[in-house]
Parts: sequence; structure tokens; C-alpha cells
Amino acid sequence: MKSYNSFQVAQNQIRKASSILNLNQATVDLLSWPQREFAFTLPVKMDDGSSQVFQAYRIQYNTARGPAKGGIRFHQDETVDIIRALACWMALKTAVVDLPLGGGKGGVVCDPRRFSERELERISRAYIRASAPYLGIDKDIPAPDVYTNPQIMAWMMDEYETIIQRHHPGVLTDKPMQIGGTEGRRDATARGGVITVREACKTLKLDPTGTFAIQGFGNAGQRAALLHQEMLGGGKLVGVCDSKGGLYNPRGIDVKELVTYKLKTGSVLNFPGAKAVHRDSILELEVDVLYPAALENAISHLNAKDIKAKIVCELANGPTTPEADILLNEKGIHVIPDILASAGGVTVSYFEMVQDGTLDFWEEHVVHARMDKKLTKAYQTVQEAIREKKVHPRLAATIVGVARIAEACELRGWV
Ligand code: GLU
Repeated sequence: MKSYNSFQVAQNQIRKASSILNLNQATVDLLSWPQREFAFTLPVKMDDGSSQVFQAYRIQYNTARGPAKGGIRFHQDETVDIIRALACWMALKTAVVDLPLGGGKGGVVCDPRRFSERELERISRAYIRASAPYLGIDKDIPAPDVYTNPQIMAWMMDEYETIIQRHHPGVLTDKPMQIGGTEGRRDATARGGVITVREACKTLKLDPTGTFAIQGFGNAGQRAALLHQEMLGGGKLVGVCDSKGGLYNPRGIDVKELVTYKLKTGSVLNFPGAKAVHRDSILELEVDVLYPAALENAISHLNAKDIKAKIVCELANGPTTPEADILLNEKGIHVIPDILASAGGVTVSYFEMVQDGTLDFWEEHVVHARMDKKLTKAYQTVQEAIREKKVHPRLAATIVGVARIAEACELRGWV
């Protein structure tokens, strides 16, 4: 089976977009590599008194448009190249939605499901002690990603403020509301995705209340299931899976009951309202909308020809391989690429930074309305690039992002 180096994939995307934009070689070289990379070795005390040592990273891919911005993952399979790719996609994502930010990403190589709450707190604080000199609202602003959450952000912010001896809540986003978080951040990634699906349905003249399936039932997947029905006026969830298994019910799965079940048991496995199926089969269901909401490379040359959805809305980062992109495009499937479809999260993170900076906190409807405006505009900009450059949606979105980053680099006199 073919294995993918996500960073090589990201570099190829940058080079392809740059060549269509006729960028000069220095710009291509600059955009093909991270501006700054930090590697840390973190010794952490475990509950049983032993010490464990973790590898960790923070990568600031490009800061021409603003400070680096992007999540921190806790995952056992993390590598420096995965973080580089994710940091690159963050730089593109913030540019596609036109936020005054750059892109970055971080990670700790660990399986957080094996640790107690106190151990997770010590890992989180150790990460900030190592990275604090390179963070700040004017340098680099982390947020949650896979297996990290607002509680982890709270510990991290506290550690950072303890080090610098003053309040600086904007150093991290997606914090709990009580300590500088914003309304509307928890469901922002999913909400942004559903907004782009709403726009795609208009483009395709498709009734949005048909069927949908979700691959990955973490924060983004769960919220997308709820919001798809709420915001689009209905829709039947016929298939869903998480890392442990899949569920199928052609008559529709009760989303609220499933979310409650998942929160209680930690998985969708054995949910009584649907038939158990192999988790990979969820991607191949005949549905109107498919939301890949798990990890990288879920849709590859192995299964792309079996994808039957009319719209693929990528809530995960990098779920589709380059070969699969071409196959999906040939099949006429309307792909909403990750750097657009999943940009709602970082958009509301940016709103959180603005509110932390001004101490003026917005009502939920204001956050929703402002995000909707940003995402709708970004969707239309990418559609225009698809028509103008005659390329598939991911390349079109990459072209929009690369053009904006390159312009900033040029204005600064870097290239
Ligand atoms: N981890 C999220 C993403 O991949 C959010 C990043 C952020 O809010 O900075 O888009």
C-alpha cells in the first residue's frame, strides 16, 4: 500500500499553484518550507512517580500576513513532516478566508487516551514552558486540534501567563468562555463547513435536506451532524463512523441520541438505532453530502472511485490524497477543500483574539453572522478561481491562498 508524506503533498500543492501564478523561484522556495521550526524534548512526571519523555514540535510556516496561527495536536503518530504539512495548510487556510494571520501548527507525540487528567495537565504545561519564548498574540497563537480541547488551552494559557507574569489571554484560542473564550468557537469548524455546503447546494441546485454521512465523530463530526440538520432545515444522517466502528441506517440515525451515546460510551460502537458496518464503508455511501472529519489521507486512489457523494465537505485537514483529488474531479464530485471547508474554526479563533484584545465580548449571533460573511465570501472566491483557472477545487483554493501570501512576502520586500 502506498504511504503518503503529507509535507511532500503540501509542497507539491504549493509548487503547482505557484507555477499557475507564474511566481518567481525565490517565492516558490520560500513558500515551500516553514519559516521557523522548534523541536522540544519534554520530561514529564507521571502519576506513579516515574518520568516520561515526549517529543514535541511547534512550526511557524509563514508569518508574512500576520502572526502564526494553528492548533496543537496530541497524537501518537505525529511526525515533524505531518506538522509541517498541517502548518502549511493553516497558512493557506487563514489566507483563503482573508484573516490577518499566518499559519502554524504544533504537536506532542503521545496517546492522550492513556493519561490521567493530571498527567495531561503536566504535559500541557511542559509544552508551554518549552515554547513560551516563541508564542504571543504578536508572534504565534495556538488552539486545539486532534485530542486537545478548551481545558488544555486553559492550562496552557495559565502556564504562559505565570511565565510572563501578566494577563495575555489572546495567546491561545478556543479557551473556556469564563477565561477569555468567545461565543460560538466550539462549533465553529462544523458551522463553517455547513455554510460552505449550503453555498455548494445553491451552486449545484441541490436540495440540502437529502442524505449525508460523516466519517469521524469527534468534536467537528458531532457538531456538523447537528448543525447540518439545524441550519439546512433537515437532512438524514444515514452513515457515521469513528475510529472504533461504523453505523448505517437508510431511514436515518437520530443525531442527538447518537451524540449523547458517544459522549457516554466514548464511541458510536453498538449504538442501538443503526446497523453495525465496517467504518471504511461510510465513505462509499450513496449520499448527497459526505463529511470526512477524521485524519489525513482517508480518501485515496484505493477508494476514490467508490465515492458516490455529490458533495464532499472536508472538515478534516488533508483527508484526500492528490491522486484521489483527480479521480473525484473526473467523477464530477463537488469537493469543498479543507483549507476552505474547515476554516470556520480559525475564523472564530481570530474573533476570539480580537475580543481578548479589546475586552469587548460579542453576542453569539454577531459571531455567527461575521463568520458566515467570511466563509461565504471565501467560497465564492474559490468558485471564481475554479472557473477562471479551470482547475479542481483544491488547486483553486491553494492558488487563492498562495497568491495572497506571495503578495504579502513581496510587499515586505522578502522576495
Ligand atoms: N485546529 C483548527 C484547524 O485546524 C483550528 C486552528 C485555530 O483555531 O487556530 O483549523
